[in-house]
Amino acid sequence: MLKVLTVPAFNDNYLWLIHDDTHAAVVDPGDAAPILDALRAHNLSLVAILLTHHHNDHVGGVPALLQHAKVPVYAPRNDRISNVTTSLSEGDNVHISELDLTLSVLDVPGHTRGHIAYVAKEQGWLFCGDTLFAGGCGRLFEGTPEQMLHSLDKLAALPDDTKVYCAHEYTVSNLRFAQAAEPGNQAVSQRLEAEQAKRARNEPTVPSNIALEKATNPFLRAREPAILKTLQGEGRVKGGDTVAVFGALREWKNSF
Ligand code: FE
Ligand code: ZN
Repeated sequence: MLKVLTVPAFNDNYLWLIHDDTHAAVVDPGDAAPILDALRAHNLSLVAILLTHHHNDHVGGVPALLQHAKVPVYAPRNDRISNVTTSLSEGDNVHISELDLTLSVLDVPGHTRGHIAYVAKEQGWLFCGDTLFAGGCGRLFEGTPEQMLHSLDKLAALPDDTKVYCAHEYTVSNLRFAQAAEPGNQAVSQRLEAEQAKRARNEPTVPSNIALEKATNPFLRAREPAILKTLQGEGRVKGGDTVAVFGALREWKNSF
């Protein structure tokens, strides 16, 4: 039975250890120290490193981890990253034999040009880096609103019960924005309350799941008339074109 261990790092990053109580694969080790501590504490040996995109808070720990264990490094083909042993793009599968784990790769450009996501279909897990967040999405550093919308559409098409392992604890501020974007959405207010309670107990709000994101995440709801109405009321968009609505939402969130 595979499990996922949450390893907090920096201010608000989550690094993920997929393990079977013996072997472990790490997703997006921005820092090596908390991963090495977790491996030691749980008596796990590292067998693979999986990267979603090139930002330092996702790859910074790779050199130190490779000093500790010489393991394969999987990473997106279209982001420039050092120490990679296997470059990936959509349609590729990663098989980690020690864990008997198969991950399929999706291209999800937008936050970066080459950003990928890993889907463990059998387990119903999604590791999506800085593409889909609980209640939000990543900033568009290298891609266009159209690319990000298409990337998020792919993730939204995964089964409803897919667990969403995103890379940051941004949920409460994301949901405050969701409330402004769609004030009449009761699911958003209920979720905001529930997630605030988790944070007050110092619990992570991640993983989320696809059903909850489809119900509450404005970036998966850019086709909702209520969101268009808010944006028009704010004078942020004219027509009802979904890409324009999505772009205006993302733009508004940048300064919210
Ligand atoms: Fe990032
Ligand atoms: Zn990040």
